Amino acid sequence: MRTKKAVKTFSYPITGGDYENGGNASKSIKELLKKIGVEPHIVRRTMIAAYEAEMNVVIHAYRGFIDVAASAELLDVIVSDEGPGIPDIELAMRDGFSTAPQAARELGFGAGMGLAHIKKNSDRFSLQSKVGEGTRLRFSIFLSPEVSDSVAANSVAISEQLCRKCLRCLHACPTGAMRVRQGRPEILPHLCVDCTACAEACESNALYAEGSREIPLPQKKTVLVLPGSFLEQFGATTSPGQVLGILADIGFRQIRLIDEWENGLRAAVLRYAREEASIRPVLSPMCPAVVNLIRMRFPSLLPNVAPFLTPIEMAREDLTAPHAVFLAVCPAHLTVLQRKNAMTKIDIVHPAALREAVLRRIVAPAREARRNVAAHPFQDVVEVGGMRHVMKVLDAVENGQASNFSVIEMAACYQGCFGAPVWTEDPSISRPRYEWERESHLLLLKKEVEAVRRVDALEPRTGLRLDPDIGKAIEKLSEIDALTKQLPGRDCGVCGSPTCTALAEDVVLGRAKAEACVYRDEGRIQ
Ligand code: SF4
Ligand code: SF4
Ligand code: SF4
Repeated sequence: MRTKKAVKTFSYPITGGDYENGGNASKSIKELLKKIGVEPHIVRRTMIAAYEAEMNVVIHAYRGFIDVAASAELLDVIVSDEGPGIPDIELAMRDGFSTAPQAARELGFGAGMGLAHIKKNSDRFSLQSKVGEGTRLRFSIFLSPEVSDSVAANSVAISEQLCRKCLRCLHACPTGAMRVRQGRPEILPHLCVDCTACAEACESNALYAEGSREIPLPQKKTVLVLPGSFLEQFGATTSPGQVLGILADIGFRQIRLIDEWENGLRAAVLRYAREEASIRPVLSPMCPAVVNLIRMRFPSLLPNVAPFLTPIEMAREDLTAPHAVFLAVCPAHLTVLQRKNAMTKIDIVHPAALREAVLRRIVAPAREARRNVAAHPFQDVVEVGGMRHVMKVLDAVENGQASNFSVIEMAACYQGCFGAPVWTEDPSISRPRYEWERESHLLLLKKEVEAVRRVDALEPRTGLRLDPDIGKAIEKLSEIDALTKQLPGRDCGVCGSPTCTALAEDVVLGRAKAEACVYRDEGRIQ
């Protein structure tokens, strides 16, 4: 059941060139924050960000709006305008860069610090702009010191009831995040990248991504956000159009497909590869699990990753409806969606729950005969699916063996989200069927979406670092090498670590004891 949280929202029009009233919206935000007792230094940061954003519209645009949502934890602000847009966002973000007209400068505005100030004074910041159309800026500020963006690093859970302790997952994990301790599998959160390789290996369905089994009651403005793969989970006799009709009967009148943001990203990455990128191949940030993997295991490839948000992050940033229901098909999506949001109340539903609700209502007329056509609109994009292939391709990129490709788009699951372990239909069938439907009936996708530039560069994840101090890390590495040589080299996993080297590392880092190896008296196997 949804718990209702108090959220105050308001919207304020801004008129381009109206310097007399410029700043009124920010003043209203300040008054609101004071009334709800927000600490003065947070009010000050908010004021700076809101004022700069408001004045940007007055100086540069024809007209615009500030939309604000404040909860007890978070203030979300979206400033959207109709105006000339920003041709080079990177340049516009630099301190001192300004395109303000003379009239604004004479009044003391337009010193070129606006966007940089907004980013500096907010806890989250994103910016989208289309030349000749306008700009959309979103920033958020945490309203109390104890609130932060520190959500769980991963979202895979293990069901104790379903786990048969077969250890298959232990060897499937590409980052060595699985352990078996006291007979039970455990996940080391700092090493897990949410890739679902363990869930794919587990025949007992014991590994899963949490999500409510209850479908929240849709309200008038509720938006349901689905992956296209959901529409193909009902066999060959139920078309996506029928599924959308059933969802409308359930009460979901506004439905958006993640594909809209995926298409926006594809187009932007291709443009980026052709016009901006100096490194080949460009790695497309399509799947958040693969982005996590690159940050963890292949940090040297971070410059290859195109500077855009992943589609699920874009969807979360884009929505302004008061209520959105997301179907999270994998733990990587779940982790992204758990970030706090005051503008939109996000409910996350387990795909099985919505699938059952649709199944109960299906009365299926025969679906027309289908062709198995798997077309891709962009010929110079290479798609890679499945963790085994993703690992090999990233290795090849790191070794300089893939620089002849323009763009590589990777997904942790085989056939992208169609292959998420949560689905019942085989992706080799459901994906071409869906693509055929999409192309021949032009249904489903309602919007052309612009990709969102990543403002903060991706950072390596520290999971693999043995110690923050390089000297100590080298000492630990030597200890791990020495201990690995004493272990038998079976890599059997009986100790609860996936390989002998992983056990040696666990021992040196205090996570296990060497006695856990039942074969250690055998010595090194040659
Ligand atoms: S694969 Fe892992 S989670 Fe699944 S049953 Fe085996 S030990 Fe348990
Ligand atoms: S989700 Fe991926 S990284 Fe995390 S434990 Fe499973 S296999 Fe390992
Ligand atoms: S391919 Fe899709 S379902 Fe699979 S991990 Fe990536 S985002 Fe999640």
